[in-house]
Amino acid sequence: MRSMLLCVPAAVVMCLSANAFAQDYPAANKTITFVLPYAAGGPTDKAARDLAQSMSKVLGGQSIVIDNAAGASGSIGANKVAKASPDGYTLLFTHIAQATLPSFFRNLPYNVEKDFEYIGLVSENPMNLIGRSNLPANNMAELIGWAKSHKGQINIANAGPGSASHLCGMLFQSTLKVDMTSVPYKGTAPAMTDLIGGQVDLMCDQTTTTIPQIEGKKVKSFAVTTPTRLSSPALKDMPTMQEAGLKDFTVTIWQGLYAPKGTPAPVLKKLNDALKVAVKDPEFIRKQEAGGASVINDPRNDPAGHKSFVMSEMAKWAPVIKAAGVYAD
Ligand code: ASP
Repeated sequence: MRSMLLCVPAAVVMCLSANAFAQDYPAANKTITFVLPYAAGGPTDKAARDLAQSMSKVLGGQSIVIDNAAGASGSIGANKVAKASPDGYTLLFTHIAQATLPSFFRNLPYNVEKDFEYIGLVSENPMNLIGRSNLPANNMAELIGWAKSHKGQINIANAGPGSASHLCGMLFQSTLKVDMTSVPYKGTAPAMTDLIGGQVDLMCDQTTTTIPQIEGKKVKSFAVTTPTRLSSPALKDMPTMQEAGLKDFTVTIWQGLYAPKGTPAPVLKKLNDALKVAVKDPEFIRKQEAGGASVINDPRNDPAGHKSFVMSEMAKWAPVIKAAGVYAD
């Protein structure tokens, strides 16, 4: 009876128009935008562009563009999507920062749990500790010795508090008990430029973007953050952090797609269906694996699995971040 009372004409009209909208979605003459909260040319940008290409194919050539809304550790782009119209045309592509920024920011202007629809996770990346090419250390043992004898004099670049590079660098410093000066950028692409130029000493970044620089001998590579060594030719001789004596040091970065809260369910289903086909696209898989990343093919490709994973990552990182006592406003 109660549900019949809700079925008033105005509600029926609304319901019909939402369905008609979803049937037409995505309209051929409209563009879907992936808001990417870091600078162009970085690893998150690369993963987003690869996914956009594969999803565009799945959606019959739909135009999908990347909007690099970088800054404030990725919170500017995430906030833009949290406040966007929930019509399926403005989506957020971001990484682990979705789970870590709430612990870093005293006043994050959006709520990770309540302001987004979760579409699906896409890929996972190992991180790689790298340094400027003229650093006076050639392996992890030498790097650890150099870091301990240069306390307070080392600069470590990152994409802001809570970013992947920051988490990895923060763990490196706390494990070594050496404080370094954190140098934040709008993404690790501009940070990489400065590392190559020798303006900063160290950086942790996803292997997707470190591999070409290691192959080009533009930076020195020291260790990877996976529990076992990686198979990619540029990194196969790299020790893991644990082999280098940094106990329990593993960091894996994951990427996923989000929509503003309130996006109609049929639109979300179309996006999730397209994402699940795209992550099986051999071309998408080849591009991720070439960068040492792996494509996710498990229940985290679905909204419920994606959301519960992000919530578990929030709970996992909160005490680590609290213990580090690093905050951003
Ligand atoms: N790699 C960056 C990070 O550290 C983000 C990026 O520029 O893709 O979070």
